[in-house]
Amino acid sequence: MQYNELIERYPDFIYHGYRLAREQNIWRVVYDFETVGLTEFHPSWTLPARGIDPDDPTFREFLFSIGMVELISYWKATCSPRVRVEGACLSEGQIGWWKKLYFNGLGEFFYTNGVDVTPENFMQIETDSDLPRTEITPAKELKGCMVPVGGGKDSIVALHILGRSGMTDKMCFMMNHRNSAFATALLSGCRPEEIYRPKRYLDRKIVELNAQGFLNGHTPLSALIAFSASMAAYLCGKRYVVLSNESSANEASVAGSTVNHQYSKSFAFEKDFADYLAQYIPCGVRYFSLLRPLSEIQIAAIFSRLREYHEVFRSCNAGNAGTRFDTWCLDCSKCLFVVMILSPFLCDAEIRDIFRINLLNSPSEKMTRYFEQLIGLHETKDAFKIESILRELLPPEKSNDFCHRLVLHGRAVCDARKPRCEECCMKEICRYYEMNK
Ligand code: SF4
Repeated sequence: MQYNELIERYPDFIYHGYRLAREQNIWRVVYDFETVGLTEFHPSWTLPARGIDPDDPTFREFLFSIGMVELISYWKATCSPRVRVEGACLSEGQIGWWKKLYFNGLGEFFYTNGVDVTPENFMQIETDSDLPRTEITPAKELKGCMVPVGGGKDSIVALHILGRSGMTDKMCFMMNHRNSAFATALLSGCRPEEIYRPKRYLDRKIVELNAQGFLNGHTPLSALIAFSASMAAYLCGKRYVVLSNESSANEASVAGSTVNHQYSKSFAFEKDFADYLAQYIPCGVRYFSLLRPLSEIQIAAIFSRLREYHEVFRSCNAGNAGTRFDTWCLDCSKCLFVVMILSPFLCDAEIRDIFRINLLNSPSEKMTRYFEQLIGLHETKDAFKIESILRELLPPEKSNDFCHRLVLHGRAVCDARKPRCEECCMKEICRYYEMNK
């Protein structure tokens, strides 16, 4: 379905509010959204009962804000130009903040759906301006850390650094937790009761709409982590939410544009979010990424030495689709990326211990294409174009050797932390050398 047709047919989207109810030892929050003339959506969350006072205005503000992030997953089906937020009074500054998050967080969605909009015209937000503003009183005493853990190498490195620095007052946060996340939290020294595990439930109607051809694409999921982990920190008396976002999350994902599919992991968002907390939910929680100064390769170098975690970590989303059971699918670009980034630091046997096979030896054409994309040998994502460009450069019978040479070159000369550029045979053609000499 086309964007212009959808915004004309469904001009209004409403955030009606949320309902909160206790169910034994959890609280359930149900959000009420409506695309007028199409359907209603009721996604929900369950939260551990710990620390919850249902009348606490700070807690209420967090719940409302989680709904503001949730709404974008349902709004995007029609991109309705008017969004009405009922039962809340948002200032001009807050409206501007949310629009900035939506616009930047949906950059890839707009790009892939060919939606040509500006920050000014893509959405208008209306709220109940005559309602009183929520008064937030700072929490009395907060200390220690809440660390969001996803089961991948980045949060493991953050947990390791915190441990080395003597920070023992910590809890882990995991939304819809995976076994790998739980296992890494336990390995880092957390007890099960120190792991905060909310669950998020999608309204499946959005999946049906996607199947019918309504607009679909990437949303800023990390903004959900930001609000929910900060809420968890507040409820559990923790002062710092310690993220594991690294420096590459700041970079554009579409060459020559500002589109960044990791926007809500970027430093720009981190700063904006810290400002939002300070100004609109001033409960004393601080939010920052411990790994921001590090690059992917530096994180991989540290992780390669944390052998006790090699058995349990998982970064593959495909192998985990729809289940809690983590596997490496060994057939996606994420799996290949993890193998590639660890290869300069681990030998072939160590790579095989983790993944059972070494994907760098894979004869699969699909892996070859992913590999070529990941090392930037071409800019297009069209598989057929890539194939023909690459075959001109690299005949199929030489692909396997080429992968090995590249890895060996990384180990022998192009060290991730200290490349020996002056003695490198590639320096005449190396972009890094050209930019840094
Ligand atoms: S010149 Fe380029 S390829 Fe060679 S060591 Fe330096 S960074 Fe690595």
